[in-house]
Amino acid sequence: MVRAERVHKSYGLVEVLKGIDLEVKQGEVFVLVGPSGSGKSTFLRCINHLEKINAGRLYVDGDLVGYRQKGEKLYELKDSEVALQRRDIGMVFQHFNLFPHMTALENVIEAPVQVKGETKAAAKERGMALLERVGLSAKAGSYPSQLSGGQQQRVAIARALAMQPKLMLFDEPTSALDPELVGEVLDVMRGLAEEGMTMVVVTHEMGFAREVGDALVFMDGGVVVESGDPREVLSNPQHERTKLFLSKVL
Ligand code: ATP
Ligand code: MG
Repeated sequence: MVRAERVHKSYGLVEVLKGIDLEVKQGEVFVLVGPSGSGKSTFLRCINHLEKINAGRLYVDGDLVGYRQKGEKLYELKDSEVALQRRDIGMVFQHFNLFPHMTALENVIEAPVQVKGETKAAAKERGMALLERVGLSAKAGSYPSQLSGGQQQRVAIARALAMQPKLMLFDEPTSALDPELVGEVLDVMRGLAEEGMTMVVVTHEMGFAREVGDALVFMDGGVVVESGDPREVLSNPQHERTKLFLSKVL
């Protein structure tokens, strides 16, 4: 579903991704871990072309992200074409990023109505079903400020799902939450995984990685240091850098 081949990304003179190679298979929960500044968020942002890569190739569902290839040459896609690619990729951030002036339901139906042109009635019906799925049908009329962090994050997940994505990206979705609210968000993610959603998850929740993850990559300094089955890597890390990192988060 996602294939990265020698992906490089620099900001000015600073190279943040130094040749990332990895593959996320259909239906897989792919966990990305690593120290602060290792390039995890940057990599996620490259997957939906919020950042342009400087070298290498990045494919989502077989399509080159952000470019069209003719022979050896790459041509940048038009904004409208990039928007079409992005529609199929849901993203959930650390800080929820809900529209503050809209209710939970309005947040969920915004993109289907505005971007996909769904009728309000149809979007509302699907939106309510999505809110029910994340356990929040009773909060459809509440504004973000009236919801707990865990509830806001579940609305954010429902909002991403409303576009019927084929891939979901999660960037530390529970890092901003009080500890007692982490479980409710992880439960929703676990349910999604069980339904077969392909997910790339940046997280420090190693319990989740171990139980739900199908593959895990440890990144440091813009390179993949180690990868494999999460249970294997977490219980028996091979590299010193992985051991050091895990000794701090486990
Ligand atoms: P964290 O765990 O703290 O979220 P991360 O692994 O997600 O870290 P990134 O946010 O991808 O790390 O950042 C990687 C490096 O790229 C950092 O050194 C950061 O300062 C730099 N960086 C990220 N975004 C930009 C930007 N827009 N302009 C310049 N430098 C950036
Ligand atoms: Mg980050």
